[in-house]
Amino acid sequence: MAADGTAGGAAVETDAVIIGGGPVGLFAVFELGLVDIKAHVIDILDRAGGQCAELYPEKPIYDIPGLPFVTGQGLTDALMAQIKPFGATFHFGQRVDELAKLDDGRFRLVTDAGTEFVAKVVVIAAGGGSFTPKRPPLQGIDAYEGKSVFYSVRRMDDFRDRDVLVVGGGDSALDWTLNLQPIARSLTLLHRRDDFRGAPHSVEQMRALVADKKVSLVIGQMCSLEGDNGALTAVTIKTKDGDVRYPCNRLLPFFGLTMKLGPVANWGLNLDENLIPVDTEKFATSTPGIFAVGDINTYPGKLKLILSGFHEVALMSQAAHRIVYPGKKLLFQYTTSSSSLQKKLGVN
Ligand SMILES: Cc1cc2nc3c(=O)[nH]c(=O)nc-3n(C[C@H](O)[C@H](O)[C@H](O)COP(=O)(O)OP(=O)(O)OC[C@H]3O[C@@H](n4cnc5c(N)ncnc54)[C@H](O)[C@@H]3O)c2cc1C
Repeated sequence: MAADGTAGGAAVETDAVIIGGGPVGLFAVFELGLVDIKAHVIDILDRAGGQCAELYPEKPIYDIPGLPFVTGQGLTDALMAQIKPFGATFHFGQRVDELAKLDDGRFRLVTDAGTEFVAKVVVIAAGGGSFTPKRPPLQGIDAYEGKSVFYSVRRMDDFRDRDVLVVGGGDSALDWTLNLQPIARSLTLLHRRDDFRGAPHSVEQMRALVADKKVSLVIGQMCSLEGDNGALTAVTIKTKDGDVRYPCNRLLPFFGLTMKLGPVANWGLNLDENLIPVDTEKFATSTPGIFAVGDINTYPGKLKLILSGFHEVALMSQAAHRIVYPGKKLLFQYTTSSSSLQKKLGVN
């Protein structure tokens, strides 16, 4: 079951599904919310923020209007606070694999975790594509993936009472070492050098567990896997003292992420060099009811900037309103002076 509790159940019916929880997908929640469109946001990452949170959380951004200086994570946190009144539902750690139009004009989406959505409009805010884990270069690893080798933790219970090998030196490896240690039967952290890039506090906590003999720390590199039918039984590790065989039945390699267009290419939309052409009035794709905003779209003069995406979602939302509420007139209003908008924002 996904964190939102939807996987495996009936389809989630909603006004809008936003594919991608980067800055533009997040601001789409706001603009859709102002016109009474409820949204579900799906992202393959385990948290919001897209490139800002994943690639440059601590770097300053200087060209967000009204904010002379904000970090990637700071902008993400501010957007999350700004969209809170609209109560969007987030589905993290899931990739949208399928998107198809239904006979009634709505859209059906299915994620790689099996969660199904039926939506009146779809907003593709997929940036440079879905973040995809880098695979360790180990022969035959694909046979174990999803069974005993995982690149993210969707259900902690999959690791309960298991012999877990976590590999990597960044925040993900450290965080999951700390989180899984209490429920795993044994936990070994493997990194190629005794120097960790993760948050200093997490490194300290990990070292304390190693000192208490609750976590084993191994310095080396994986060279082969052993097992049968997708069930891992051991990993051979090259260490400075030679090759060592470590029995384990769960492997969690955290070797970083790359961005790949991924399934967007299979949804029957017109593409131009892996980008989705849109008009600049509605930011509509070649399929009515599907919009594309932010880095994933292209049009004459497009600039891949966060502020461009913010403008795009404002116009997109007006067009989405015409689909979700056919025949209903939309009044142009300012948040400063409209009591009805302020009510939606919970400030009046
Ligand atoms: C180092 C660096 C510095 C930058 N500095 C600036 C700057 O100073 N100012 C500026 O304006 N811009 C800057 N940018 C660019 C800016 O980050 C992007 O323009 C912005 O992130 C685009 O936002 P987005 O929401 O469109 O896409 P993204 O931030 O790329 O988010 C897209 C999200 O969609 C998810 N996704 C994609 N496909 C799927 C799928 N099928 N299923 C589920 N999830 C999916 C991805 O996992 C990702 O989280 C910088 C970029 C980098 C790399």
